[in-house]
Amino acid sequence: MSLLTVSDLTVTYPGRGWRKPAFTALHEVSLDVRAGETVGLVGESGSGKSTLGRAILGLAPVSGGSISYDGRDIAHVSQRVRRELARDIQVVFQDPLSSLSPSLTVGESLAEPLRVRRVSRSEADDRIREALDLVHLPADAVRRLPREFSGGQRQRIAIARALVLEPRLIVCDEPVSALDLTTQARVLDLFLDVQERTGVAYLFISHDLSVVRVMSHRVAVMRHGRIVEAGDAHAVTTSPTNPYTRQLLLAAPVADPAAQARRRADYEASRAMAPYSQETTR
Ligand code: ADP
Ligand code: MG
Repeated sequence: MSLLTVSDLTVTYPGRGWRKPAFTALHEVSLDVRAGETVGLVGESGSGKSTLGRAILGLAPVSGGSISYDGRDIAHVSQRVRRELARDIQVVFQDPLSSLSPSLTVGESLAEPLRVRRVSRSEADDRIREALDLVHLPADAVRRLPREFSGGQRQRIAIARALVLEPRLIVCDEPVSALDLTTQARVLDLFLDVQERTGVAYLFISHDLSVVRVMSHRVAVMRHGRIVEAGDAHAVTTSPTNPYTRQLLLAAPVADPAAQARRRADYEASRAMAPYSQETTR
C-alpha cells in the first residue's frame, strides 16, 4: 500500500477582489508515494509543484479530490491532527533559513520540534546527535548559529531538523536549487544516503530534470497544474513519450543521461556492499 495517495486533487487559490480572480493551480492531480521511495516531481516554474507540496502539508486550499496518508484522509483535518502529522511528514525548502531562526543556535532549532512534542531532554539530545550524524555535521554544530555555516551546510542543518522527528515522508521543494553545482551534488548524495539509512520516502520537487533523474525511483511531470506524464524514472527521463517532457529533457544540462541514470543504481549497489563508514566525507 502507498504511504501517500493523492487522488484527483484540485487546488483553487481564492481571488482577492475583481483585480485578482480565483486561480486553479492544480487540476485533478493524482500521484502516490510508497514507503521508502522517491517520487520526483518536475516541471517549469509556475506549473504547480510547490502547490502540490503545500497541499500535502496542509498549506494550500484543497477544493476537490483527496490526499490520504497511511490510509487516512488528511486533506481536511483539524490543526491538532495536522500537528500530529508533522511528526510523520516533514519538509525541506529551497531556503534553509526558512526553517532555522537566525538567532537560535543549531541545537535550539533542532530541539524545538522535540520540545513541542514533550520529548525528554536526554532523548532529545540523543535524537539531535543522531540527526547531525546522519547529515555528516560534527556534534559541536549545536552551539553555533546558522550564519556561521555555508549554504550547503545550512541545508544539511535544515535536513537534520526535518529528521529529528523521524518522519516517514519528506517533501523536498527545490532543496538544492540555490546551491552551486558541486554543493548540489554533495547534498543530493546526502539525501540518497539518508534514505538508505532511514528508509524515509521523498516527494522530490525540482524544475531541473537532471536533478530529479538522479534522485527518483519514479517521476511525474507537471505542466499548467496537470500531470502530463508519470512512470519509472529511467523511462520518463530518457525516453519520454510526452512532447513537453522531451522539451524539459532537451533543456536539462546533462551530457549523458544514461550515465546519470546509472548513478543512482551504482550508488545503491555500492551502499549494499559497503556498510556505512563514519569516515566517509561528502
Ligand atoms: P511551481 O512551484 O511549480 O513554480 P507554484 O505551485 O508555486 O508553482 O505556483 C503555481 C501557480 O499558482 C502559479 O501560477 C502561481 O502564480 C500560483 N500561485 C501560487 N501561490 C498562490 C497564491 N497563494 N495565490 C494565488 N496564486 C498562487
Ligand atoms: Mg515552487
